[in-house]
Amino acid sequence: MTRVAVVGAGVFGAATARELHRRGHEVTLHEQYTPGTVRSGSGGDTRLVRTAHGENEWYARLSRRAVELWRELERETSTDLLAFTGVAWLDTVGSTFAEASMATLDRIGVPYERLTVDEAARLFPALGGDDLTGVLFEPEAGLIRARRATRALASAVPLEIGNVTPQAPPKADVVVWACGAWLPKAFPELVAIEVVRRDVYFFGVDGAWARTPGFCEYDGPFYGHGELGGLGMKVAWDGGSVAFDPDGERLPEEETLARVRAYVARRFPTLADAPLIGSRVCQYELTGDGHFLVDRHPDRDGWWLLGGASGHGFKHGPALAEYVADCIEGVRDPEPFHRLGPRVGSAGLRTAGR
Ligand SMILES: Cc1cc2nc3c(=O)[nH]c(=O)nc-3n(C[C@H](O)[C@H](O)[C@H](O)COP(=O)(O)OP(=O)(O)OC[C@H]3O[C@@H](n4cnc5c(N)ncnc54)[C@H](O)[C@@H]3O)c2cc1C
Repeated sequence: MTRVAVVGAGVFGAATARELHRRGHEVTLHEQYTPGTVRSGSGGDTRLVRTAHGENEWYARLSRRAVELWRELERETSTDLLAFTGVAWLDTVGSTFAEASMATLDRIGVPYERLTVDEAARLFPALGGDDLTGVLFEPEAGLIRARRATRALASAVPLEIGNVTPQAPPKADVVVWACGAWLPKAFPELVAIEVVRRDVYFFGVDGAWARTPGFCEYDGPFYGHGELGGLGMKVAWDGGSVAFDPDGERLPEEETLARVRAYVARRFPTLADAPLIGSRVCQYELTGDGHFLVDRHPDRDGWWLLGGASGHGFKHGPALAEYVADCIEGVRDPEPFHRLGPRVGSAGLRTAGR
């Protein structure tokens, strides 16, 4: 048995702490605020769960495994986490994401439907599809109640509240630094992660929009989902690269709201005048290519760096934790694409193509 400290109770840290605890290690989870704080990437109400990752099979398989583990967590904690409404990928001219994803889904045996725009109209009470070329629908996909899931993971291990720094590290044989958007603050010389703001909006809609599919417009880029549990319909623009301080104030931006409203009016015309009923300002912690960061600290024995979830990490939480725990136990090595060092080009793993 090894003494392990995991710093950061977002989905990456909490899932890793729980997995190592299940394997018999003596684990303490450290969190500066509270697990699932809305300041963390994992603190959103919902996150999309999907298998389609373009041509990338590694993450497609990881997300399938994660769904099994999320289901297990639901049973163990009697918590309702997943809402499988399906996810619709809305294609515009020139988009290649759906084609690449279908080839991967075929290879790994995951069901999907390829719909014409007319056929896809059945998925939503109203769909403005003049500029759409087709829809890839994943029925075995949907949403996860993210904050609730993060808290459920964290509840499995002893928790210490407080800010932990590399200058005054916890006493343990292994320290996993899973600090999300705070990782580059903790290791400025080592971790090249860009922290950028993301505004998310919720619109008041009627019951016809309850449990409509999650949607992603890879080349929009926009994404969102229908009414879930009274939150309203979520819509977000997935572009922009404005730097963001995760400890700062979180006021939504008028310009982004206007952009999202224009999108809603075009794509879901009956919602053109839907009232805004909520908003959140969150942040992505982007690596150069969208692959996560999983690696040993180059100078400190037993230290691991875990992060760079790059706007698509939530769904993978417990499956990623199995892999990270294997790496820590020396059963396998981190994949080359998760290592520290320069990252070149986009791996196309996010819901946004540009
Ligand atoms: C708007 C938005 C939409 C997204 N949509 C999706 C989606 O649809 N599907 C999907 O799969 N993913 C999505 N993501 C990505 C996903 O939610 C995040 O990438 C993921 O939750 C990040 O998890 P994390 O554990 O790495 O970091 P975080 O959740 O940020 O957790 C890090 C934790 O570490 C704590 N911490 C940091 N430093 C210290 C310290 N020194 N001492 C103690 N504690 C510390 C922080 O307080 C925080 O709680 C989205 C993200 C955002 C922002």
